[in-house]
Amino acid sequence: MAAELRAAIRAQGLAGEGGVQGGWRMSVDGAAGRWAEARRLVRSEIGAAAWDRWIAPLSFQGLAGDAARFEAGSPFAADWVRRHYAEEIMAALREAGCRCARILVSCGEAPEAEAGQPQKVPAAANSPVASGGDGEFEFRPAQLDGRQTFEQFVVGRPNELAYAAARRVAEDDRVVYNPVFLHGGVGLGKTHLMHAIAWRIRERSPERKVLYLSAEAFLYRFIAAIKRDNTLAFKDEFRSVDVLLIDDVQFIAGKNSTQTEFFHTFNALIDSGKQIVISGDRAPGDIENLEERIRSRLQWGLVVDIHPTDYELRLGILQSKAEQKRAEEPDVRLDPKVLEFVAHRLSTNVRVLEGALTRLFAYAALIRREITLDMAQETLADLLRASDRKVTIEEIQRKVAEHYNLRISDMTSARRARPVARPRQVAMYLAKTLTSKSLPEIGRKFGGRDHTTVMHAVKRVESLKDTDSQLSEDVELLRRLLEA
Ligand code: ADP
Ligand code: MG
Repeated sequence: MAAELRAAIRAQGLAGEGGVQGGWRMSVDGAAGRWAEARRLVRSEIGAAAWDRWIAPLSFQGLAGDAARFEAGSPFAADWVRRHYAEEIMAALREAGCRCARILVSCGEAPEAEAGQPQKVPAAANSPVASGGDGEFEFRPAQLDGRQTFEQFVVGRPNELAYAAARRVAEDDRVVYNPVFLHGGVGLGKTHLMHAIAWRIRERSPERKVLYLSAEAFLYRFIAAIKRDNTLAFKDEFRSVDVLLIDDVQFIAGKNSTQTEFFHTFNALIDSGKQIVISGDRAPGDIENLEERIRSRLQWGLVVDIHPTDYELRLGILQSKAEQKRAEEPDVRLDPKVLEFVAHRLSTNVRVLEGALTRLFAYAALIRREITLDMAQETLADLLRASDRKVTIEEIQRKVAEHYNLRISDMTSARRARPVARPRQVAMYLAKTLTSKSLPEIGRKFGGRDHTTVMHAVKRVESLKDTDSQLSEDVELLRRLLEA
């Protein structure tokens, strides 16, 4: 997405390629080596995937005073890096020997945009995350996303239990379930719910110390503490929190010393009545290489899963996000059918849905203005292909019958009246063009008809498509619904 958006932005000439102020280049040479080293540190800190995506494309412009300046490929990337990785970049630069207290990331825009001074970064200023203060061991103002609140969470059958459990944890001062273990596939809202819990507790009881972090971060901090011979501070810091939220616990599976530390921290918190919420990509019993005692401790409390989204939930989420986007881009027109189409055709992962919507709005704002079915299909072609599944003849019959308000049995019956016969021909045509079934196989599925009947139907629909615009629209819509 980022690359395409960047290309689109470039195509529009909205972002300067260079945009570098003269003075900044001056100190590059001396600092470049340090940045090269810092880059490696950032990579080990944030992981290869995030690094490849956000840090690798940054171009280092140099150091001036206590500020390090970077250029990103798009305003979006610049903003993202500022909001999510400023701390890591600064820490790494300092580690590499730079005197750095500010990070400036721009994209041919005004160089004032900066991050890294906590008082200027809203996420850090009111982050409901514990900060270790002056001690050697410091929790980074974590990347709590302000949009990930309960208000922004769309509830449907697949996630209602997890949502209710999360609300309960956040709104009940007593510790009722401990730990709460949320699990589900990727992109289904686990992190969102954990952030929402943190925000809500922060709102209701600002005096409670809430710490959210990924198990991966826990691992890195732990290793760093060992290296600095500072595990005591590490332990104290963790054990002083009231609510500990650990995301993606599967990351520490197999990392034995970290697991042991995690286990002790976990026990100490539970024993002193502190709330723990943990997420994982699968149920505790299914995480491999997890110590048995941890597994059973995780199963102690409340284990809830988030199921893959269904059509209703996807549509609800798309509608809610489209509302927000429309507020940001009031000029963009959106054909409501597009949301239904996307909800039908895209997979269960909410992150993919969001990405699709962002892309549609970005393209519409940059290039076209109106999001139509056609435009959506073109713009989302790669996503649609990726989520393609095999279409069956039964599905085609069902969709066609629905579309024309017929019974499914009309697809296989002998009735020859045009209002029935024509849709049946459309269904045969779709069966021929969307599946790999042979004409005789298709004929059999349509009430034992002969293969020549199917062939005739296919030819008939093909020629009607050129002359009958209503029919051609119907076929297009059905084809899209069933996927091309
Ligand atoms: P996970 O941690 O389970 O992989 P996330 O919590 O990161 O998934 O969710 C992926 C994206 O989808 C986030 O941007 C999140 O805000 C959004 N999202 C997930 N579920 C919902 C929902 N029910 N309502 C609104 N947004 C959602
Ligand atoms: Mg997550």
